[in-house]
Amino acid sequence: MQAALNQHVAALRECRACEKMTPPPISGGPVVSRVMLIGQAPGVKEPALQRPFAWTAGKTLFRWFEDSCGINETQFRERIYISAVCRCFPGKAKSGGGDRVPDKLEIATCSSWLQREFEILKPQLILPVGKLAISQFLPKVRKLVDIIGQTHETEFAGINCDVIPLPHPSGASTWHRSEPGKGLTAEALKQVAGHPAFKALL
Ligand code: SF4
Repeated sequence: MQAALNQHVAALRECRACEKMTPPPISGGPVVSRVMLIGQAPGVKEPALQRPFAWTAGKTLFRWFEDSCGINETQFRERIYISAVCRCFPGKAKSGGGDRVPDKLEIATCSSWLQREFEILKPQLILPVGKLAISQFLPKVRKLVDIIGQTHETEFAGINCDVIPLPHPSGASTWHRSEPGKGLTAEALKQVAGHPAFKALL
């Protein structure tokens, strides 16, 4: 499994399939794990820092896990496979309000990398972060309030697994800082901490 994942990550880092994306693809490295965290896409800082969730949203995200799940950022990066809907920085939105949301073709193109990760790792627990990542696994649900704070069963790339969705920890979002989002986020993290696949990492 480790050799296949090493090969996968090396190939991923060379990908230049999407014309509008800014390379290089960002990977959290070949961490063999049955738990996967899946973000939307890297921001402008991540290519220079060469790791996902390297800036302000990451600080909030890792604080959530440290405070509620007993795992600090270093341990998290060593024990959990960090993936994303798209692995390259999409650029800034034309409106000027944050990063461009990847388009359907980019999502479909990058999905082949995600599918291969499922084939290699056969994850038991998926932690999608933010609406775009959540929608890859729970496509019918439209509101965060209907899905955060619950554990869902799903099938992706032929693998049955549990999904515990999390809101995006971006500073631009207030959802996780006010009710009902605050309480639902706390409940989601509690369910992560109690999940057998997560407990097996500690
Ligand atoms: S977004 Fe994904 S598919 Fe597109 S160039 Fe980057 S790594 Fe390749």
